[in-house]
Parts: sequence; structure tokens; C-alpha cells
Amino acid sequence: MSFNPISEIGEFGLIDRLAAIVAPTKNNLPELIEGIGDDCAVWRTSDSMVQVATTDLLVETVHFDLLTTPLHHLGSKAISVNVSDICAMNAMPCYALISIAAPREMPVEMLEELYRGMAHAATLYGLAIAGGDTSSSPAGLTISISMTGQTTLEKVTLRKGAQPGDLICVTGTLGGSTAGLNVLMREKATMIEQLRNNEPYDKNVMAELQEYAEAIRHHLLPGARTDIIDFFNEEEIVPTAMIDISDGLVADLGHICRRSGVGAHIEESRIPVLPDARAIAEEFQQDVFDWALSGGEDYQLLFTLPKEQYDSIASHRDITVIGTITEAEEGLLLTDIFGMTIDMAEMKRGFDHFGE
Ligand code: ADP
Ligand code: MG
Repeated sequence: MSFNPISEIGEFGLIDRLAAIVAPTKNNLPELIEGIGDDCAVWRTSDSMVQVATTDLLVETVHFDLLTTPLHHLGSKAISVNVSDICAMNAMPCYALISIAAPREMPVEMLEELYRGMAHAATLYGLAIAGGDTSSSPAGLTISISMTGQTTLEKVTLRKGAQPGDLICVTGTLGGSTAGLNVLMREKATMIEQLRNNEPYDKNVMAELQEYAEAIRHHLLPGARTDIIDFFNEEEIVPTAMIDISDGLVADLGHICRRSGVGAHIEESRIPVLPDARAIAEEFQQDVFDWALSGGEDYQLLFTLPKEQYDSIASHRDITVIGTITEAEEGLLLTDIFGMTIDMAEMKRGFDHFGE
């Protein structure tokens, strides 16, 4: 038997290998509608109702940096990213279980602050924190949240279901999270430099962050779009496919296309970019569209809808049509702001935990 490092096949290659091992278990319960491969697992709870469930792991130094992340924000974000996966199924959140592994020396008050952030977010979303597990950790803080949600069999929206001709829509703005992260990383580098030089940390630097507050908020406190799910309910809209943008627009649109067996053509000029991200990208001499297309962690919803239903979303000022679903053979195309059409498969991929 040969042994291969995970980095050779990447995060998604690994999930595929593990999914193959557990695949037969789905036959044990016929109520399971969707297992591995979507934002949530989906199972039927009655003739008309389904429950959805997701789980997410946040590991210190991999997903968050305690030097730049207030614990209250971290708790709130941990809840929001799970709610976002529930929303991606066109469902609303119900219950959460929270597990933590923390170093023995960590002050109790820090964990209380983390949990106050979680409780605050849970109240905003109307979900109940109903349990969890606690362990010591040899290094760093790890937070794992599992969450269930509920919707009907008619409304549940998978990554598969997009049809050629469908409109590709995105909520809110993109690029804000990556812009905020860049500012925070620069701030951290300044802080470390000052510590290294034995200079006292200049508190005014923090005050100057005010002008970046909007982008930093997008990174530290992303909100899950339960308001969009409410809007879909009110307007009786059921998207043909949906995903939340956690890995980046290009990567997540790729997930919809792969699961639906279709292609896509989007236009860069239509992508809603956070105005503050544009200014920050200029300052960092980066392309803001790179951040919007590949940055990730914006937690907006990306969904497809039959063209005939355009009127139902046209009046919503926080939903933008960015392109059209095409036949699979056409691949994933992007027409850039100069009118050049490029293959998105050639672009930088979204985030891969074991990638380069
Ligand atoms: P998301 O970004 O929406 O949270 P992921 O990319 O983390 O989704 O996961 C993709 C799919 O793979 C999901 O259906 C998830 O349940 C499944 N998955 C991820 N890791 C594992 C694992 N270790 N074992 C089984 N299923 C997994
Ligand atoms: Mg997701």
C-alpha cells in the first residue's frame, strides 16, 4: 500500500475519497435526499417537510487569528457562516451544537466573550444553541459548530438544478471580506514590527482604521442572508440552484455548474463590488476584481433563476444579475471589463485547505 500526502489531491480530492467510503451508508435511511456534495445534507421529516444540517470547523491560525479578531466577533461569525450554509438551501436555521477545544491556560473570560458573540448572533437569527462538547487542546482554539435548519420539500434548493438559459444572480457586494483581511494583516505586521523594535504599540494606528471600518466589518462580522430567504418566501421564488459564497465567486459558481452539469458565462462589469474594497485594492495595488472573484468569505448567496422570473427579483436592490447559465460544453466563461472573454478554469481557484 502506498501513502500519499493530502496536499497531492487537495481538499476536494480528499472529500471525494472519503465520500466513496461512506457512500453505501446513505442506503440505510431512504429519507436522505442529499448527502455529501451540497452546502447542507437534506433529509425528509414528513411528506412535505425537510430538515437540513451543516457543520463547520474553525481552527486558530488556519481560520482566524486572535491578534486581529475580537472574540465576540469570532463567536458571531462562527454562527453566521453556518446559518449561511442553511440559507444556501433556501431554509431557515433551527438548532446549533457547539464544540470547543481550548488550551488549559486560556482565560475562562475569553470563552465567555466568544459565547456572548454566539448567543447574540443566535438571537438575531432566531435559532437555539442546544448543546455541544468541550475538550482541552494541545495548541490553539478550535470551534466546531453543527446546525440544523428547516424548509419544505418544494422550497429546498440544491447546488444541482441550474438549467441553460437561467440567470445567475448574486446578493449584496463582494470583495469586502478580502479587503478587510488585507487591512487587518497589514495592521498585525505593524504591531509585530513595533513589538520587535520594543516600541510601545501606537494606539493611534487603531484609530486610523476607522476609514477601513466597512471592509473590516465585512471580514469580521459577515451576516448570513436570512433576509433573502424571507424575500424568496414572500415572493414565492424558488431558485433552481443556490450556494453561499464561502470559497470565492468563481469556485462556488464552479460547484453549481459541476453539480448541475451546465456551463456559465458571467460579466465582470456586472459584479457588485463593495465600493470601499475598490479604494483599499487601489491602496494595496491589487485588482479588486481578483478579490471579488476569488477572495471568498463574503457569505453572499449565488443562485440561478429561470429568465422568465426576472421581474420577481428586478425590484430587489440587493440582488444583481451577473450572467447566464449555458450548456456544459461552453465551460465557465468570464467577459472581463475590457471585453475579453476568458475561461475561468484558467483562473486562480478558490480556497483549498491543502492546496498551495
Ligand atoms: P461548504 O463550503 O459549503 O461548507 P465544504 O466545501 O466544506 O462546503 O464541503 C463540501 C461537501 O463535502 C459538503 O457536503 C460537506 O458535508 C462534505 N464534507 C466535507 N468534509 C467532509 C468530511 N470530512 N466527511 C464527510 N463529508 C465531508
Ligand atoms: Mg456553503
